[in-house]
Amino acid sequence: MVELAAVSRTYPGGVRALADVDLTIGYGELAAVVGPSGSGKSTMLHLIGTLDRPSAGSVRIGGHDVAHLDDRALSALRAQQIGFVFQQFHIAAGVPILDSVADGLLYAGVPMRRRLARAEAALVRVGLGHRLGHRPHELSGGERQRAAVARAVVGEPVLLLADEPTGNLDSVSGDSVLSLLCDLNTVGTTVVVITHDQQIAASLPRQITMRDGRLVHDSAAVTA
Ligand code: ADP
Repeated sequence: MVELAAVSRTYPGGVRALADVDLTIGYGELAAVVGPSGSGKSTMLHLIGTLDRPSAGSVRIGGHDVAHLDDRALSALRAQQIGFVFQQFHIAAGVPILDSVADGLLYAGVPMRRRLARAEAALVRVGLGHRLGHRPHELSGGERQRAAVARAVVGEPVLLLADEPTGNLDSVSGDSVLSLLCDLNTVGTTVVVITHDQQIAASLPRQITMRDGRLVHDSAAVTA
């Protein structure tokens, strides 16, 4: 699903956020990315999500070499294959969550009635079937994050990327979002989740540890 080979990313100004990273994540895996703040976790997730391009090395997603795709082809790849969940809830304020989730299918060319039906199914899946008409401010933090997960998965991505999805949540809400990610993984979605929470990371099948822009430990490599 994900193949990074000798990937580096240097930001303008010279910050080398990622240095010479090799990483393979197979279809159907569930992996945690851990490491101190500033170690390059988000940079790596953005590269995996094709939101950014490497300064050196190659990024292959679902067999596609990102360097060989123009921006339009990359957007199509993202729309068809990748879902994102971020720490801050990226759900439009003032809009019923059913509509926000349905908007996740705008670029997939799905007709509106079908978008709404699939959005409802996604919200039911995350346990918000009784909150379809609610706006984000009428939901708890945990419910908002579950709505964000619904939006990320409404297009049925094969790859779900989550950047500290439980970072702003109390432990009960965090656990429910985490078990949701695990459920999605159980039905086949490849999930990569950045977390600073050691307990969460330890509960997942694979841990990838970053430090100073380098991949310094990979539990899969040790047991392989
Ligand atoms: P993490 O997610 O582990 O906290 P990041 O990938 O966000 O780490 O950042 C890695 C390094 O790159 C940090 O030193 C950060 O300050 C720097 N950085 C991140 N984004 C940018 C950017 N857009 N421009 C310049 N430097 C950046």
